[in-house]
Amino acid sequence: MSKNGLMAGKRGVIMGVANDHSIAWGVSKALAEQGAQIAFTYQNEALLKRVEPLAQALDAELLIECDVSKDNGIMEAFETVGKTWDSIDFVVHAIAFADKTELRGKYFETTRGNFSMALDISCFSFTETCKAALPLMEKRGGSIITLTYYGAEKVIPHYNVMGVAKAALEASVRYLAADMGEYNIRVNAISAGPVRTLASAGIGDFRYISQWTKANSPLARDTSLEDVGGAGVYLLSNLASGVTGEVHHVDCGYHVVGMKGLNVPDISTVKG
Ligand code: NAP
Repeated sequence: MSKNGLMAGKRGVIMGVANDHSIAWGVSKALAEQGAQIAFTYQNEALLKRVEPLAQALDAELLIECDVSKDNGIMEAFETVGKTWDSIDFVVHAIAFADKTELRGKYFETTRGNFSMALDISCFSFTETCKAALPLMEKRGGSIITLTYYGAEKVIPHYNVMGVAKAALEASVRYLAADMGEYNIRVNAISAGPVRTLASAGIGDFRYISQWTKANSPLARDTSLEDVGGAGVYLLSNLASGVTGEVHHVDCGYHVVGMKGLNVPDISTVKG
């Protein structure tokens, strides 16, 4: 870990590491390489086993339970952080959930219960995270990021209610940036290209979506954890001191493309 890196002297909370394929893990490693001190949250006791060795690998000082769907779960987690650290400089929110039986087929089949749960866990939790982090950030300022996806902007097969939740999340980023600006706290989102993780495995035909994206992206490759990690360091460090309210695409350029390229191979037979 670097003592002279871009994040040296900065400490913060990372929410959403499930395993070493998680996007939050990619961001964690990049931050630690730049000297950041990290506190991790995990959803519940059963998942602690997976997160603990990863936290140890980065010399994390704190490992705190936080189920964002529980009343006061987020507020209590940040109060616990405050017992060890009197201030923090950054937060990474990389949490989303929807019933996977509704991440396939038609959007209009979404049930009221799943709609509420998906919006609660994937969008409201970010708003509450910003509120909970404020007492620890208001004196020195800081930077907060969340993770979103292009399915917020355009229709992606099977993304359904998660696309609607991500659209609400992206709108929240703008409102939160306005609310938090007076404390010199910046709020941004990274819109990552498809990455194979536990969460994305629940999306119907994810392999097809991922291969289509790769084939049609200007950089013609998959988005990596390192790609997202580097952008995370940029947004959370002083390099992005004038950037807030932004949805920053880290998707090998896919979002600028309007139609299938002429020489792009036919991948219509890819399944799963
Ligand atoms: P992941 O490794 O499965 O991470 C998702 C995280 O959300 C897990 O750590 C999961 O915890 C956590 N979570 C779900 N419900 C929770 C709850 N009630 N309380 C606390 N934590 C909860 O998948 P990922 O792909 O890296 O996802 C991270 C973020 O990136 C998500 O917002 C996702 O939408 C976004 N994103 C992903 C992609 C992609 O292609 N993978 C692309 C763009 C954006 P447990 O595993 O412990 O339940």
